Amino acid sequence: MLGLMQQHELNISRIIEFAAQCHGDGEIVSRRVEGDIHRTTYREVAARARKIANALDAMQVEQGQRVATLAWNGYRHMELYFGISSSGRVLHTLNPRLHPEQLAWIINHAEDTVLCFDTSFLPLIQAVHSRCPTVKHWIAMCDGAALPKESGIPGLIAYEDWIAGQPDTYDWPVVDENSAASLCYTSGTTGNPKGVLYSHRSTMLHSYAVVMPDAMCLSARDSVLPVVPMFHVNAWGLPYAAAMTGCKLVFPGPAMDGKSVYELIENEKVTLAAGVPTVWQMMLAHVQANGLRFSTMNRTVIGGSACPPAMIQAFQNDYKVEVLHAWGMTELSPLGSVCTLKNKHLAESPEAQLKRRQSQGRPIFGIELRIKGHEGQVLPWDGQQSGELQARGHWVVGEYFKGEGGEILDEGWFPTGDVAMIDGDGFMLITDRSKDVIKSGGEWISSIEVENIAMAHPAVAMAACIGMRHPKWDERPVVVVALKPNATLTRDELLAFYQGKTAKWQIPDDVLFVPAIPLGATGKMLKTKLRDQFKDYQLPSLSA
Ligand code: ADP
Repeated sequence: MLGLMQQHELNISRIIEFAAQCHGDGEIVSRRVEGDIHRTTYREVAARARKIANALDAMQVEQGQRVATLAWNGYRHMELYFGISSSGRVLHTLNPRLHPEQLAWIINHAEDTVLCFDTSFLPLIQAVHSRCPTVKHWIAMCDGAALPKESGIPGLIAYEDWIAGQPDTYDWPVVDENSAASLCYTSGTTGNPKGVLYSHRSTMLHSYAVVMPDAMCLSARDSVLPVVPMFHVNAWGLPYAAAMTGCKLVFPGPAMDGKSVYELIENEKVTLAAGVPTVWQMMLAHVQANGLRFSTMNRTVIGGSACPPAMIQAFQNDYKVEVLHAWGMTELSPLGSVCTLKNKHLAESPEAQLKRRQSQGRPIFGIELRIKGHEGQVLPWDGQQSGELQARGHWVVGEYFKGEGGEILDEGWFPTGDVAMIDGDGFMLITDRSKDVIKSGGEWISSIEVENIAMAHPAVAMAACIGMRHPKWDERPVVVVALKPNATLTRDELLAFYQGKTAKWQIPDDVLFVPAIPLGATGKMLKTKLRDQFKDYQLPSLSA
């Protein structure tokens, strides 16, 4: 017997129309490429999203065709998010930190038809446009007066001119909820990037999950600052989740330095900010150096790579800001788990709580996780055994765009490439990417743990642990360290700092100092580059 309830397609247009109706005056504040602070509302963003839909109709962009953006976090990008997907086209967010070669490859692979870009990325567009034959329209996200002159981009038009004459009404089509809504490519550290094609349904369900109390706990009373970029994995789904709740949204634009981010947090009374550890490192350094406080921010979502315990402690103990350590990936839309404590954990000692908060937390409802051992056996959640982490759920990839990589699932589960252990309460600890695992004497050493210890040293800005070949032990860890400005630290001092903090055999054999750790397009440490840089290096025990 079927239930007798109404059935509506889960369409992204519903989110923005809801926001316009119930939170019409809800604020959206952006620091613009132009440098000023711009203020708008959900009502206005919805109206301009409808104008975009009309403008795309005028260009005869068909349903399902890809419309690309190359832009910072800002209100125009938000309008494009909703205008493109709600009208049945596919929003394709491009990552400006990619190399032009890779960018051109992705644009061609996606067969983008229109490309909207922030004027700060004009040089990048100039470098790639002649290699992108599928793109018929280039749109600079500015008004007519700011349109770059003699850009060399054929037919370049200004965004404001593009939508100016269009009506702000639009009959959103009802699209099959399983149809594609947006496309994001993985960073492709190995091989070509692969496209993850999100559907209206997956995006909607993911947004519901992001809002839940044990996830990001968003409400209409929040003021949310997504520092995580809208150009990669939809800023962790925050543009949709925020519109679902009507919370205030604050966009940082291109200014991601500590001072600019801090000023926005204070001026716009931000309650929740979301970003990768490297961004918070810059902000904490600014706040610490200038003796500042946070007057409204009460929680921060940190993910994308492991959040060092020293950062969790600084936020919580010194600034009374709760850290929500989150794990996810492009293939998971991206949210998989968030670390929020249960009642029973609040009675634990501060040390035990800190240890728990270092974990990537519990899966949010809608995501199932399992870990698999060396022999392919499913391992128990005992907090002891670690194996390859696999995920399945409503917003997990089934296959890559255009079938790249073939069949990717293992009995319906997506292999994440992460190595993790999970305890009886569902708390998951990621110990490594499987390709970064260090195998020493038949045991695995967690590079994340080695890095976390180094990063707890006050002189260390960033640390990356990599394995070096060893004839007897297979591999031994060394830690590559970038120091904070004006800080001094010797190899022996750092190695002494490890004593008592981890098992002796897990202490790195050597410390290599570098001016800066190379970062990839999504702000993660590029260990491949480091391994390359130190390919002729010999461990001290071998070079004697
Ligand atoms: P990419 O395009 O590089 O895959 P993602 O943002 O999809 O970019 O990266 C996902 C990966 O990032 C995860 O598989 C995991 O290895 C790592 N990651 C994400 N969040 C965390 C976290 N909180 N702790 C440790 N690793 C994390």
